[in-house]
Amino acid sequence: MSIFRKRRHQPPAKHITAIRSGVLETILASARSTHPHEFAGSLRAEGDTITEVILIPGTISGDSHAIMKTYMLPIDLSIVGSVHSHPSPSPYPSEADLQMFKNFGRVHIIAAYPYTMDSWRSYDSTGREIHLEVV
Ligand code: ZN
Repeated sequence: MSIFRKRRHQPPAKHITAIRSGVLETILASARSTHPHEFAGSLRAEGDTITEVILIPGTISGDSHAIMKTYMLPIDLSIVGSVHSHPSPSPYPSEADLQMFKNFGRVHIIAAYPYTMDSWRSYDSTGREIHLEVV
């Protein structure tokens, strides 16, 4: 993979199994500051670990689910999935979320109100809950 040769960073692994605690804190803080609107972003990984959250340009915050304008994402192979917040206490994906999961990326985080370490969940592209270790 010559395109990675010039890069200092490791390409993302097929299976993402961990998230840096600082990234999770950033997600929860962003969700809190956007409340009662939704926050949405994409996730970048190195190896098997999520290392960065990027606010998606053109993200619509509103009372309904955030709409991810995935076509506005830069072509970036290190982006592995999405994150968004739920202003309600439900961390479970909606029908629209499941549709988005299927079409974009392989790891998806939902941070539900009150945006604590206990109120977020992660899912694979089929909407099945997965475990991410906080590192
Ligand atoms: Zn949602």
